Amino acid sequence: MKRFLIFAILSLGVILSVAPAAAQEPITIAASQFTGNFRKNLTFQVEAQSSANITQVELLMEFDGNPGNFRAAAKFDPGKQVRAVYDWNLEQKYLPPGVAGKFWWEIADSAGNKKSSDKKSFRVEDNRVKWQMLAESRFALYWSGGDAAFGKAIFERAVRAMDALQKDTGVTIEHQLQIFLYDKRADFLGALEPVVNDWVGGRAYTEHGITLINVSANNLSYGLVATPHELTHLIIHRMLGDIGRAGFPRWVDEGLAMYYEFVPPALEPEYETLLKRAIQNDTLLPLRTLSGNFATDARQASLSYAQSFSVIDFIYRRYGKDKMTQVLLEFKQGNGADAVFRKVLGADTEGLEAAWRQDVGAKPRVIPTRSSAAPTPFPTFGLSTDATSTPAPRAPTTIASAATPAPAPTSAPRASGNPISQLCGGAFGAIALGVLVPVLYRRRGAR
Ligand SMILES: [Zn+2]
Repeated sequence: MKRFLIFAILSLGVILSVAPAAAQEPITIAASQFTGNFRKNLTFQVEAQSSANITQVELLMEFDGNPGNFRAAAKFDPGKQVRAVYDWNLEQKYLPPGVAGKFWWEIADSAGNKKSSDKKSFRVEDNRVKWQMLAESRFALYWSGGDAAFGKAIFERAVRAMDALQKDTGVTIEHQLQIFLYDKRADFLGALEPVVNDWVGGRAYTEHGITLINVSANNLSYGLVATPHELTHLIIHRMLGDIGRAGFPRWVDEGLAMYYEFVPPALEPEYETLLKRAIQNDTLLPLRTLSGNFATDARQASLSYAQSFSVIDFIYRRYGKDKMTQVLLEFKQGNGADAVFRKVLGADTEGLEAAWRQDVGAKPRVIPTRSSAAPTPFPTFGLSTDATSTPAPRAPTTIASAATPAPAPTSAPRASGNPISQLCGGAFGAIALGVLVPVLYRRRGAR
């Protein structure tokens, strides 16, 4: 027994003395670095050596707040000592500013040795403009152009909006969201991917929890509403996920975003006037029509936003705030709109619409019979009346097919002239193995 113990101790001694030598792995990594040059490229470099020829160098990346990651072969001249480079071309594989994560390397040699490097951080920075920033746990606000008071006012409005949104709906924010307000239009357009239409006023990258908005430093009032509006979209879209978003009616999406622009909720006078007139003249749009894309016509688009707000406001008042939580959770499961509304509110889209119309003092809508209802009665509306009844889980290919936006808004100029002709461009992107698939959706734009 005693001899065995001594042997064991000796063995341990041998192992201990051998250990440092064993740590001398064949492959060693001398340097690993990241250089960003937004919006051209990101460069990842590594220097490594081995006792045998290095035959493979791969870059691996993971993105904060995004389950997708990325793997690609780096370029290098094979040898025992190599300098390998991976050039991420942002023109081809766009990433918005604010995207951050970790990168590391996997290296193999001809003797079968393998080595993974330590993970290092990277962040895509738009250094073409000078940023100011305010942040709390839920989101970070970056702005260019405006002074400290400009950013502070918007930040505080957004904080109040997020408090209200979370209190009402119970949604959580697990990963800090980022909002970038670009003062100059050229800087804003220069920050987006090359394919974006130039009428776009804001763009959201839901998978990364990032939104870019063009907010001029002399247009604080727009920044005050656009920021909480976009944050609401980001939070709701991230909560719903791909499956939930696919069947999510546009009017619920935009109605919620409008609802949290002001705390307490309020409809701006221009919208209020439009809505009142439509109620009086019996020209309200059918709620089902608002499930799909909103009109390209400026006035119809504005009315669509106003109605969306009004129906959300009605749901909160009539059914209680906790019902919205349930509605969102049902959509998250991939259920269709009518099924969701029936289950949670006890009425389908038309039933809900009838109750809402009564509440706001509108005449009951004459619902056409099936045969006469077939063509949409509103030719200015681009999209279907029934998009929500069959929510197919959205595959990347489906997203790609939607990448071209609905007809360009010829009748709705971006901003300047008409204060209520607003268009928002935005997009949510999905990143899978480095492929960013943008989806354009229409939103209110700069006024
Ligand atoms: Zn919106």
